[in-house]
Amino acid sequence: MDQIKTGQFIAKLRKEKNLTQRQLAEKLSISDKTVSKWECGKGLPEVSLMIPLCEELGINVNELLSGERIPEKSYHEKAEENIMSLVREKEENKKKLIISSVVVCMGAFTMFVCGMIAGLVETLAAPVRIMLIVFGFLIVATGIAVACVLDRDSGTFECRSCGQRFVPTMKEYIFSTHGLTTRKLKCPNCGKVTNCKKRLTK
Ligand SMILES: [Zn+2]
Repeated sequence: MDQIKTGQFIAKLRKEKNLTQRQLAEKLSISDKTVSKWECGKGLPEVSLMIPLCEELGINVNELLSGERIPEKSYHEKAEENIMSLVREKEENKKKLIISSVVVCMGAFTMFVCGMIAGLVETLAAPVRIMLIVFGFLIVATGIAVACVLDRDSGTFECRSCGQRFVPTMKEYIFSTHGLTTRKLKCPNCGKVTNCKKRLTK
C-alpha cells in the first residue's frame, strides 16, 4: 500500500465532489487536519473511518487502499494484495515485539549469571568481580536500548482524543510514562497529551 497514492486519490475524489477538506471532515465528525494529513500521505484513515469515508467518496475500501479505481476484472487480485500487505505489516511488528522481549530476558539472565559468578567464586580478584558486574549491567543496558528501538519501530500510537496515529520521537518515547499497552504522549495532530494506545498497524 502506498499512503501517498491513497492520499492523492482522496484529494482527487473530494475535489470531484466539490467538497473542501473541512466539509469532508465535518461529514465524518473528525478534524480537517486529519483529512489534510491523509491527503499529504502522512497516514491512512483508521479502520473505523474507512467505510464512512468510502461512502462519502463513492468508492470501496479496496480502491481506497489501492489509491485508484479498480476495474471489475482485477478486483480480486488487488484485494488480495491489500490484505496480504496488511497482514505482513502486522506480522513483522509482532516479530519485532517478540525479539525485543527475548533480548531483554537474555540481558537480564546474563547480568544474573555475571552477578552470581562475581559473588560466589571466591578465588576471583576484586577487579575481575567489578568487571563482571559492569559487563552484566552493560549487557542489560544494551538489551533495553535495542528493545526500545524495536518497540518504537513496530506499529504506532493512537491518540485517545482524535484517533490520530503517530510514531513518537525516540526522546518522547523514552521519557514518557507508560502502562502495559499505553504510553502518555503528545498528539502531533490535536496537541493533547493522552494515554495513547499501542497499535500494531499504521
Ligand atoms: Zn490527537
